[in-house]
Amino acid sequence: MTDLSPLDAVGVEDAVQAALAAFAQAATLDELKDARIAHTGDKAALTLANRGIKDLEPADKAAAGKAMGAARATIGRALAARTEELEAERDARVLIEEAVDVTLPVNRASVGARHPIETMQDRMCDVFVSMGWEVAEGPEMEAEWFNFDALNFDPDHPAREMQDTFFIDPPDSGLLLRTHTSPVQVRAALERREALEEHGHGIYVICPGKTFRTDELDATHTPVFHQLEGLAIDKGLTMAHLKGTLDHFVQAMFGPDAVTRLRPSFFPFTEPSAEMDMRCFVCNGEDAACRTCRGTGWIELGGCGMTHPNVLIAAGIDPDKYTAFAFGMGIERTLMFRHGVTDMRDMVEGDVRFSQQFGMEI
Ligand SMILES: [Zn+2]
Repeated sequence: MTDLSPLDAVGVEDAVQAALAAFAQAATLDELKDARIAHTGDKAALTLANRGIKDLEPADKAAAGKAMGAARATIGRALAARTEELEAERDARVLIEEAVDVTLPVNRASVGARHPIETMQDRMCDVFVSMGWEVAEGPEMEAEWFNFDALNFDPDHPAREMQDTFFIDPPDSGLLLRTHTSPVQVRAALERREALEEHGHGIYVICPGKTFRTDELDATHTPVFHQLEGLAIDKGLTMAHLKGTLDHFVQAMFGPDAVTRLRPSFFPFTEPSAEMDMRCFVCNGEDAACRTCRGTGWIELGGCGMTHPNVLIAAGIDPDKYTAFAFGMGIERTLMFRHGVTDMRDMVEGDVRFSQQFGMEI
């Protein structure tokens, strides 16, 4: 490249136009930087020409300086304008590229959910805990004595037969998987009888937990299910206390209009015994086509009654001084009619999509 003379007006104008074209062509700030170095850097033609002014004849210096100043000013303005444009473009692009689309589906790790049986069990227990009852727990593998004998089951009671009960090998081990949570009642009473007799502390316990029967898994049966049983032992307890407790429970769970009714029944461990029903909380007994109560107006809750004196004796408690009532209900069953779950298998298959419908109720 031949040196550009500061007096070469056409050459200076060509250099200016070349610079303006390069700035206009630069599509990014990086390209503009390259163009700036090429046309205004130390080795650019105009820079060198500007430097040459000092070597001119004194008479030419003023005109050359004016021409070069105008040329540099033009280039400077063009560079500033193009820089502003490209920065604005960059900012706009960044806004678009980094925008967060809140409607996009998220892909986060699942946190799972508490199982609805557990939340239901907690909810039911809370009603009793708020009345001052204690939660009692016991072993799932239980002594046959606690599961049957202490509860006044005859030695030949059909519930002991193999078709109902999981016995633990060897056959004379005396152990089984508990068929109900009632053995916990006996254990709880044994543990608390001193406080009852010596200090007059009534025994009020709620026993939630897993129970086991040799049923096939289908829509309405499962070999492992959950029960919630209650036991109250004190001086002067009657069926009226039982009824009042049950009414309070269903009102806490289903609203202030809920009521229960008792129907005569039979269980080895209570006398008298009753089935307890609750008026249908969906139709209030006024819809013959109601699916929750099947048009009967009542929902079966479970069994209850005054604890048999033989059970109190097994727990070391004098049935002439104390009376007791007990009740039991299925947690799966409560979940089914309270939430319209129609198939028990949904509750045991562990699909988190089922549990998540019940949220994280705490
Ligand atoms: Zn109904």
